[in-house]
Order: sequence, then C-alpha cells, then structure tokens
Amino acid sequence: MPLALYDTWSRALRPFTPIQAASVGMYCCGPTVYDHAHIGNLRTYVFEDVLRRVLARNGYTVRHVVNITDVGHLTSDADEGEDKMEKGSRRTGESAWAIARRYTEAFVGDWRALNLLEPTVWCRATDHIAEQIAFIADIERAGYVYRTDDGLYFDTAKQDDYGFLARLERAGLQAGKRVALGAKRSITDFALWKFSAPGVQRQMEWDSPWGRGFPGWHIECSAMSAKYLGTWFDIHCGGEDHIAVHHSNEIAQTQAAHGTRLANFWLHGHFLTQQGDAKMSKSGGDFIRLQTLRERQAEPLAYRYLCLTAHYRSTLQFNWDALRAAQTALNRLRRLYIGWPEGGVADADYVACFDVEANDDLNLPKALAVLWDLVKSGLPSATLRATVDVFDAVLGLGLSDWRSAETEIPADVQALLNEREQARAAKDWASADALRDALDAQGWRIEDGVHGPRLVRQTSPATSP
Ligand code: AMP
Ligand code: ZN
Repeated sequence: MPLALYDTWSRALRPFTPIQAASVGMYCCGPTVYDHAHIGNLRTYVFEDVLRRVLARNGYTVRHVVNITDVGHLTSDADEGEDKMEKGSRRTGESAWAIARRYTEAFVGDWRALNLLEPTVWCRATDHIAEQIAFIADIERAGYVYRTDDGLYFDTAKQDDYGFLARLERAGLQAGKRVALGAKRSITDFALWKFSAPGVQRQMEWDSPWGRGFPGWHIECSAMSAKYLGTWFDIHCGGEDHIAVHHSNEIAQTQAAHGTRLANFWLHGHFLTQQGDAKMSKSGGDFIRLQTLRERQAEPLAYRYLCLTAHYRSTLQFNWDALRAAQTALNRLRRLYIGWPEGGVADADYVACFDVEANDDLNLPKALAVLWDLVKSGLPSATLRATVDVFDAVLGLGLSDWRSAETEIPADVQALLNEREQARAAKDWASADALRDALDAQGWRIEDGVHGPRLVRQTSPATSP
C-alpha cells in the first residue's frame, strides 16, 4: 500500500508523492530553549521521527531540518510580553546566551535518549539573523509590512486566504479581541521585527535597516526553511498548537515573499495531556521531563514505546500505569529478541502487513499489534529476529543495541571496582573493604575468582520486568 498522510492544509488523507523524486524535504519546528523540554514536546518529536523512518522505509532520502528557537518567542502569541529567553535569564540569573546553550544541550541529550535520528540540519535562530532580515525585506518589497512604534508588522488584511490552514474566521476574531490590538491594525497581524525598547539594553539584539531589535518568532522558520529546503518543499511538521498562529504566519510570510504555501504537506501531532485533560506546557511550570521518568525507574525508550501505542492524531493522556505497562512490554520484547539467533530472513507476509499499517498515516498502534502477532506466530526464531529488525527500523526501539542490564556494568560501578583493585595492590585493606561495601550498597557483589574479581548483580535492576 502506498504511503498516505493526513494533510492539515486539505484536511484529508493524501497519497504522498515527493516534489522531487526520491528525496524529501522535511522541516520540523524545534524547541524554544528557555527551559527543559517536557514529555509533551517530546511526543511531537517522536511522531516526527517515526514519519522520517517511514519515509525512509518507502525508499526516500530525507533532508530533515530542525530549528532551535533561541530568540524572539514572546510569552504571548499576541506579540506582547517578554522574550522567553530573557525571562528565563531573569529566572535563573544566567545570561540569555548561556541559557540557550544549556537547554539546547539538554534538548539534544533528550533527543538521543529517545533514539531520534539526527537531523540533517540543526539551525539556530540567532545564527540566521541576516537571512531573517533579508526575508523581511522581501515581504516589505511585496507590500505586506507596516511599522508601529514597537516594530514591523505583517498586514494580514492584504492576504485573502490568510489563516486558511487553521480555517480561521477572521471577522469573528477581529470583533472579539479588539481590546488586545495595541498598535496593530488587525488582531491576526504579527511582528516581523521588534525594536528594542528605548533605553533598554537587551541581551539579544541586532541592527537592522529598520532599527535595532530582534526578529519575531515566526520569521525564523520561514527564513531557515527557505535556506535549507527552498520555498516549496514536501513536509512541514509541528504540534497541533502551531496550526492557528505559528504555521499560519509562516505560510503568510512565504506566500507574500515567494508565492508558495511553503510545504506540500502539513502534519500536526496531537497533544500529550495530563490528568483532567490539561495540556502539558512549559509555561504551566509543573511539567514532566525525561529526567522525571528516569527518577521513577522508567527509561526514555519506554516513553517512546508508549508514544507508539497511540496514533499521532489522537490525544494521549499520560499516566504512570500506562508508562509502566510500556516499560514491561519493551522489556519483554527485548528479552525475546536477545534470545533469537541472527542469520534469518524476514517474513514477507508480516512485513507487508506492518507496512500497510505504517503507510496508513503512521498507524503505529496497529503496526505494534502486527509485531505482537508475529511474536506469537510460531515462525522460526531466526525469522522472528530478522522480521523484527525490519520493524524496528521504523519503531526505533533500538532492540539490536540493547544489552541486558544484568550483564552490563555501569561506568561508575566499574570505576569503584578499579579503585578497589588499586587499594588492594597498595595493601590498603581498609579502603578496599570500604569500596566493597560501596559496591554492595549499589547492588553489586564482588566475587574474587582465579581470573581476578568479577561483579555480580545482586538485585533485579529497575529495568527488568
Ligand atoms: P516549544 O518548545 O514550546 O516551541 O514546542 C516544541 C514542540 O512541541 C512544538 O512542535 C509544539 O507544538 C509541541 N508541543 C507543545 N506542547 C505539547 C504537548 N503538550 N503535547 C505534544 N506536543 C506539544
Ligand atoms: Zn516553526
């Protein structure tokens, strides 16, 4: 079955064909790095990673671009409030630049822990100020820009189909929110460039033909996608919250300057919610990170598994029982997989069934069901392994890289053992005993054998079912 994807622009499932044969351009809105990513954000990146893997499974080379928003994202979508980076700087006492660096690194750590494929291009907004200024100048030349006391704005009234992606009903919006207009002509207008407030020294600001300041949030994605993928490319992704404002504005900008609606397919991941259906959000403060899961003995890859159990276009309500069930299922799969020998050939029928589900707008819950059917099929175990290898290229659970925690010795434990050996060599028996106790306390027993000391796990590690 050929790949079909649900396109938010047309509100329909469409057969996927690339603009240029064999190669697919894909742009995914990345994190605003003023705080850690929460597991809601990460659900969206897991969905995008699965999309990329399914495209690869269909034989396409994917050029995958992910941006890092490190300037210009204000606390309010109405172009008011503080820059989130500067706010983060006040919260922690670090510079906005240091915060951006720290949370970008943390984000990339989360990315790798979830076994997300490395993007072809990571691009930072602050590394592309010149491109953003040039893009705004193009929009200005096309006649869509007006100036107020605090910046340059995009004039949405000039575009008949502004907001089509979100099916926005502009007349209603305008009437309902007149109060929040400020100097804007229309409620849907948005900032392209904001001036630094007079007398205020911002940490992040640049000169521009219009005055010193910083770019609006939306322009970075239009400018960087144009640079790395061109102004008409295959797929643009993000979370569902981006439909009404951020993506509608990206489209408006590119349409004004280049006459395209930016991407042929618009895909949106639905939210992860918390109890009571509350959207998980960074500004909400009380959010769950990957580290929070680790502290509760769940692995990032168990969270990945949990994401696969829900279709990306349905809301997933997070709860700890579901995460524990995902961890148990993943552990079970690993233990089966590790016992299966290599050298088999994938079963064509099961692969075909899996592909049908994956190509049906990434129906991963059903694709997972095919996997568990396969496990029960009674096929030779080498065939099971080879078939699951094909599946895992899409699922991304890293099965072939997994080593049982009982056989793997963590680096800090190994370091304690090495120290103990040094203490013994120096005949420092007291230290050697203390180090043995420290290892004991961590659940590792030293057995001194003829080939030297060996570490044995005493208790079941947290990752075992
Ligand atoms: P941000 O760092 O806030 O710019 O968001 C990064 C990505 O996460 C965007 O694609 C958002 O649409 C997405 N996102 C934000 N909150 C959630 C949530 N609760 N569930 C799923 N995706 C989300
Ligand atoms: Zn974006």
